[in-house]
Amino acid sequence: MPAEILDGRALARRTRKDVRVRAKRFKRKHGRAPGLDVVLVGDDPASQVYVGAKERMAGKCHIEGRVHRLPVETPMDALLALIATLNADENVDGILVQLPLPSHLDEGVVVDAIDPRKDVDGLHPVNAGALVVGRSGLTPCTPTGCMRFLEDIEYDLSGKRALVVGRSILVGKPVALMLLAKNATVSIAHSRTKDLESRVRESDVIVAAVGRPELIQGAWLKEGAVVIDVGINRLEPKEGEAPGTLVGDVDFAEAQERAGYITPVPGGVGPMTIAILLENTVLAAERRNP
Ligand code: NAP
Repeated sequence: MPAEILDGRALARRTRKDVRVRAKRFKRKHGRAPGLDVVLVGDDPASQVYVGAKERMAGKCHIEGRVHRLPVETPMDALLALIATLNADENVDGILVQLPLPSHLDEGVVVDAIDPRKDVDGLHPVNAGALVVGRSGLTPCTPTGCMRFLEDIEYDLSGKRALVVGRSILVGKPVALMLLAKNATVSIAHSRTKDLESRVRESDVIVAAVGRPELIQGAWLKEGAVVIDVGINRLEPKEGEAPGTLVGDVDFAEAQERAGYITPVPGGVGPMTIAILLENTVLAAERRNP
């Protein structure tokens, strides 16, 4: 039987609906909407698209989205001064510095400067540490979104073998910790992992966050496995194909024949990332203003 497709657009819609209700309640109680401030340095086209989408979606969810567009040559002290101002502003609940930053700016220093209570990207070491020790911080958006698919199908992770392919700070490591917190037996694969195929074969759940088009073959999957595909890869167009087709890290057509559940690309994890960013903003607002 072909896999059930986990519809990220529908799940994101439901998530945003809940965010809207909470944001409206916050506004009634505190006389202002939750505020999300996004800092964009430079004119990277992909970043401009992401930031535009965040601003639009915030507006739809009764969140006050503000974008601070800074020139590419912005020096570190000016960026840190802006972050300090946003940290001190009571009307700012969430701060997101769009990554990647231009190469003269140290991303670690910038992320460290954000008030952890406003760090809606969940990347500050205080929030990363909270995840490690099992305390409630703000969790990174994409991994949280991945977990929501499993919660939505009421998948019991206890004792299941989960494989995370990729170990980035943004996706792989945090999602591995989240799976572990739900009592899965977790393995993390990366570029030095030997025999990825065998690791995939023995896993009940696969989270692929690599950035290599269709690296994971459908035939490798255990029958009935749950596949969460984070990868977003733009293919070189083949003859007759629409330019720039997006594919994930898993060969979707093949995988669909063996998996129990699978997220598509596009329309899977992607839409959930922004929905969780908005949810984190409302959560940060509620926590700072109980
Ligand atoms: P990243 O920082 O480049 O990390 C990629 C990871 O994959 C690294 O840990 C790397 O291993 C590992 N890797 C590379 N080649 C491998 C191979 N052949 N076998 C096994 N592991 C391999 O990327 P990222 O930021 O985590 O993003 C991963 C993908 O998710 C990208 O396609 C990105 O566009 C996508 N993404 C999507 C969303 C969304 O909202 N849907 C959000 C974030 C990212 P090493 O550590 O050994 O180098």
